[in-house]
Amino acid sequence: MSDLLLATTNPGKQREFKRLLQELPGRVMTPQELGLDLEVAEPHHVYAQNASDKAVAFCRASGMAALADDSGLEVASLDWGPGVRTGRFGGPRVTDPVGYLLDQLRGVDDRRARMVCWLALAIPGTGPDGTPRSPRVELFSGVLEGSVARERRGEGGFGYDPIFLLRSGQTTAELADGDKDRLSHRGKAVAAALPRLRQVLQ
Ligand code: IMP
Repeated sequence: MSDLLLATTNPGKQREFKRLLQELPGRVMTPQELGLDLEVAEPHHVYAQNASDKAVAFCRASGMAALADDSGLEVASLDWGPGVRTGRFGGPRVTDPVGYLLDQLRGVDDRRARMVCWLALAIPGTGPDGTPRSPRVELFSGVLEGSVARERRGEGGFGYDPIFLLRSGQTTAELADGDKDRLSHRGKAVAAALPRLRQVLQ
């Protein structure tokens, strides 16, 4: 087993994973590259459970090891929400989630926030006689502390990056790709997963 399937169709996440995983021996494939069209619900209140469901669904559908990401933005003054619901923040009518968050925080002084990433790696299971078994799931996580800026800055990254402010004064959208990869919640989670990925994908 040497190839890995990314269990995400989010182009921002796919770009980052392709960079973060470039040292792996095999190919890192997207569902689109495999012609796999799979919608997986994210009903749980826990990132790890959503990530695990996505990884298992893509692993079963492809027979490949699959890596899923459930991530979110947690804001102190929103009782550390939207968190696991970040992808649906504000509901279906909100077309500009970043603008919506800025509106929610207008006049709020406590801007503390963090970005959280949970990764689930689903590995195809086989019994002693080669019969398929349920995939095995392993979890990894990373956190990036910061705050919510008062206005957008920077062109890089995706999602909330233009308003996620680091202690350095830069937003994550102003970072060079390599710096975001080194510092970010996703970069840290991938760094934790890499030794295991190297074992599994040889
Ligand atoms: P989900 O993991 O698909 O449920 O969605 C997580 C949401 O969190 C994304 O759609 C983004 O809006 C946001 N998000 C996750 N990671 C990042 C990041 O690295 N930068 C900016 N926004 C992010």
